[in-house]
Amino acid sequence: MKKVFYSKRFPPKGFAAINLFGVIIGRSEYGTLSVREINHEKIHSKQIIEMLWVFFYLFYFVEWIVRLIQFRNPMQAYYNISFEREAYRNDRNLDYLAHRKWYSSFKYIRRGSE
Ligand SMILES: [Zn+2]
Repeated sequence: MKKVFYSKRFPPKGFAAINLFGVIIGRSEYGTLSVREINHEKIHSKQIIEMLWVFFYLFYFVEWIVRLIQFRNPMQAYYNISFEREAYRNDRNLDYLAHRKWYSSFKYIRRGSE
């Protein structure tokens, strides 16, 4: 099954890609996703599976609200969601998913902010 698609209007401006239940959608105006961006989205795919799909989005949204209260800045809140912290800190390491332990995202809840 093809896992990367491109769209003109989705995800919103400023975001290169989004992962919807394991399907990666890139915003076409930003061009083909880089190896790093694909790796970032694949990290999310793993997180999504281990959170049984719906709980990923639920936790993601709830943590974004908590981080928004904490940082009072929507983008900073986004970068500090545990799932994003894990993905941004490891997406350059193309070997990361081969060695990643289950539920590694939870180690990032308390780590320093981005
Ligand atoms: Zn991400």
